[in-house]
Amino acid sequence: MNRRGFFQSVTAAGVAAGLFSRRTLTAQTRLAGKKMNLSFTPLDLKLRYPFTLANFSRTSTPAVLVEIEYDGLTGYGEAALPPYLGESKASVCDFLGRVDLAQFKSPFELEEILADVDALAENNTAAKASIDIALHDLVGKIMGLPWYQIWGLSLDKIPPTTYTIGIDQPDVVVQKTGEAAERFRILKVKLGRDNDKEMIETIRTVTHLPISVDANQGWTDKVAALEMIHWLKERGVVMVEQPMSKRQLDDTAWITERSPLPIFADESVWRLYDVAGLKQAFHGINIKLMKCTGMREAWKMATLAKALGMKIMLGCMTETSCAIAAAAHLSPVADFTDLDGNFLIADDVFTGVRLIEGRQIPSDAPGLGIVKKIV
Ligand code: MG
Repeated sequence: MNRRGFFQSVTAAGVAAGLFSRRTLTAQTRLAGKKMNLSFTPLDLKLRYPFTLANFSRTSTPAVLVEIEYDGLTGYGEAALPPYLGESKASVCDFLGRVDLAQFKSPFELEEILADVDALAENNTAAKASIDIALHDLVGKIMGLPWYQIWGLSLDKIPPTTYTIGIDQPDVVVQKTGEAAERFRILKVKLGRDNDKEMIETIRTVTHLPISVDANQGWTDKVAALEMIHWLKERGVVMVEQPMSKRQLDDTAWITERSPLPIFADESVWRLYDVAGLKQAFHGINIKLMKCTGMREAWKMATLAKALGMKIMLGCMTETSCAIAAAAHLSPVADFTDLDGNFLIADDVFTGVRLIEGRQIPSDAPGLGIVKKIV
């Protein structure tokens, strides 16, 4: 007897025995018709190291975990919610409460489902990504294949992930750089303050590993920025992310035209519709699932960027191994990856991504290849 036949006979027996209420029966009839069932859990993930700025410190980061159940399988998704991006646990739960997956016949209708979810409200990109990621996990599980294989990608092509060395006192920077140099093949440094050169020189007392630099829009003068990029290149820096404000696109284009290092957009790029307009101003784009609504649009952005002759970087927020795995499956298409988010979480909810020779390698299990830890 197939699953549906078994279910119907159990239901019929239950009705005869008077075991099921009308409400239970309705839910079960939907399941028998293989409907998708969405549930979600807001939570605060504990940070491994407190995140401190001048006037505040946080020890946890908000997230919403999503599960989509269908035909006995569960797809996992995640909305990671750094405060500066404007979404919260409440806004995500409100958004997810409006998502109606029951109107679709199967999770394979990804294009239609995600267009419908996208149209529910503007922005809310992390909430949208949580649905996208869970659907991809589910579809991969039904197909019995990991996503990198569905996409036709090879794990051998995954670039090493950068690991960020936070700005700190020199002795702390020395200690953290020493620890990171044992596990990672490329480091990342956030510049754009008044101690940029000191930070690079301190790291260089410890290691000769390549460094990627994220100026986070911090440089304001294009001539000084270009001089700094030349200085950085001489010290083993291999790329620069968002040198100037997203409002200074012409100045950025001026730098990119002359830069000896590839220049990547981050704050300037959110979604697919941003990509083409950045071709003149940047060599490449940093794609982040929480900004671009998930794996499906990330794949489209990567495809378009390649067609435009642009480079690709895959970035992340502070995320569990769920969203990191989702990005890792796509990462063979990238020139650079910055997927260190799960290392910053003390109580990761999932396993399924392994750091091998500095590369974030997803598992061969179907879908995202992740397993939820039993808490
Ligand atoms: Mg950045």
